[in-house]
Amino acid sequence: MCGIVGYIGKDKCIPIIINGLEALEYRGYDSAGIAYVLNNKVVIEKEQGRIDNLKKKLNLLEDSYLGIGHTRWATHGKPCKENSHPHQVGNITLVHNGIIENYKELKNELAEYTFKSDTDTEVVAAYIDKLCKEKKDMLEVLKILKDKLIGSYALGIIVDGLDKLFAIRKDSPLIIGVSEKGNFIASDVPAILKYTNMYYLLLNDEFAVLDYDDVIIYDSDGCVSTKNIEVFDGTFEAAMKNGYDHFMLKEIYEQPKVISDTVNEYIKDKKTFLEKMKGLEKYTAIDIVGCGSAYHVGLVGKSLITEYGKVLVNVDIASEYRYTNHIYSKKHLIILISQSGETADTLAVLRKAKKEHIDTLAIVNVVGSSIAREADKVFYIKAGPEIAVATTKAYSCQLMLLSLIAAYLGIKNKILKDDVLEEYRKVSNLLSDSLSDTKIIERIANRIYKNKDIFFLGRKIDYALAMEASLKLKEVSYLHSEAYAAGELKHGTISLIEHNTPVISIVTDDSIRLKTLSNIKEVCARGAFSIIITNKDIDDKEMYEEIIMVPKVTDLVSSVLVISKCQLLAYYVAKLNGCDIDKPRNLAKSVTVE
Ligand code: GLU
Repeated sequence: MCGIVGYIGKDKCIPIIINGLEALEYRGYDSAGIAYVLNNKVVIEKEQGRIDNLKKKLNLLEDSYLGIGHTRWATHGKPCKENSHPHQVGNITLVHNGIIENYKELKNELAEYTFKSDTDTEVVAAYIDKLCKEKKDMLEVLKILKDKLIGSYALGIIVDGLDKLFAIRKDSPLIIGVSEKGNFIASDVPAILKYTNMYYLLLNDEFAVLDYDDVIIYDSDGCVSTKNIEVFDGTFEAAMKNGYDHFMLKEIYEQPKVISDTVNEYIKDKKTFLEKMKGLEKYTAIDIVGCGSAYHVGLVGKSLITEYGKVLVNVDIASEYRYTNHIYSKKHLIILISQSGETADTLAVLRKAKKEHIDTLAIVNVVGSSIAREADKVFYIKAGPEIAVATTKAYSCQLMLLSLIAAYLGIKNKILKDDVLEEYRKVSNLLSDSLSDTKIIERIANRIYKNKDIFFLGRKIDYALAMEASLKLKEVSYLHSEAYAAGELKHGTISLIEHNTPVISIVTDDSIRLKTLSNIKEVCARGAFSIIITNKDIDDKEMYEEIIMVPKVTDLVSSVLVISKCQLLAYYVAKLNGCDIDKPRNLAKSVTVE
């Protein structure tokens, strides 16, 4: 997470740095800042929220040729202006990506300094300032620093009075870009690609000194290192896709990381969890409202919150809910789910709820978006920017948040014990393993990509997942697909099942397993090509031609394991059909119209 961009050269630095930070937005952040040298003085501007907020405060054409910029993803101290980077202490101004584990010990050695922020980063700035005053030589300082800091860091540093940019890293990424016109530091290649495709990879414990027309890199022993220059010969878009053919695939594979980021934000420890969720137990009824996949998240959430929270839950599509009259209980909560935080219908529901004085909670990805700003309370997911129009990683993170609400209520109700939180810590590794083998999925995609109608079946949570699986397939592959509650099929739609019709059944809920298996038998009897996604072996091999196994875990977390398989299936079917996967026809990422 977080983005660093720095520049020293012949061009004005502010537009270069802002442009670079924008190219790194995909990494996720909650605030942005810049420091630049103007008339030998370091000027700092920072703002909470989007880079646009920062941009409004800047004169892009300022005569500055040396600067560092940062998008912060808070780890130490809340996301606010004071904690945003750059941090300045004495003669040192710096940006940092990572976590300094021994910042408290370092702080103890810095009694003469007062601190303005809660960050680990400001301590590093003070520590460097102190070392600089003692050693007077920045190279000596960096050598000492790398032995002293414990944790992960990429640092971009400006020293008052020195026309140089210093960089050092360990376990957080940093590259050094070079060009005729100037030199760069950046967290990732897209940040510099507009200006150069040549860069050095800085390795752990290496550091670099950048001048207007020169870069010197030092190895971990502090000796000048002669490195090969890397040349990126792809487009900006290819750099952003990080080796994947499509953003959708990249985002599917980002899920273990963003789920873990989202979950850790809320269950770092039990105290944090109870603090963040505090008050939710007072509601006697909850309405969950969203559009498209966000509505489907709500359906899974309803199942979990009803089961563990023992609360009355109603789920509705925002465009319906906003025009319907509702009966509210005295302690009623409306949960609004939106990736962008700008979905017009969901925003309208929020505004209507506020007029009626109903409490609102938003589950949103984009920091500072309208829904996030206007709701009484906001739970951010940490999915990072989602570029593919069809949601994958945001869906899974939203799902985890509703599940955490269910777990919290379950703990309060004494239906669940605290140790249930461990399940959330494990899910990300299980998901990584499960995503590593796509053979079966690709084989199924090859078999079904020319079919005209595809059915998904499930009961209870599995039905809610079937709805999302079906939507995903429709969105990106343009095949017709329907999700059916498994028991409902025989009330009409079974007439559409004929020889070779693909029927994908989701069977993960033990309480209803046998019932769903009976329904699968019914479609098999009519010649369906039966595919089962399940977490338990099925003895009767007649019931399926393909079986996709997912790990058996609590229903609080199992949905993300199931849905990732369906996302991959949708992706491969769309690919075989030559569809524009990241930008399906007629669809928009952020639906800001009714
Ligand atoms: N640990 C630092 C902070 O909380 C840096 C976070 C980041 O990587 O953005 O400010």
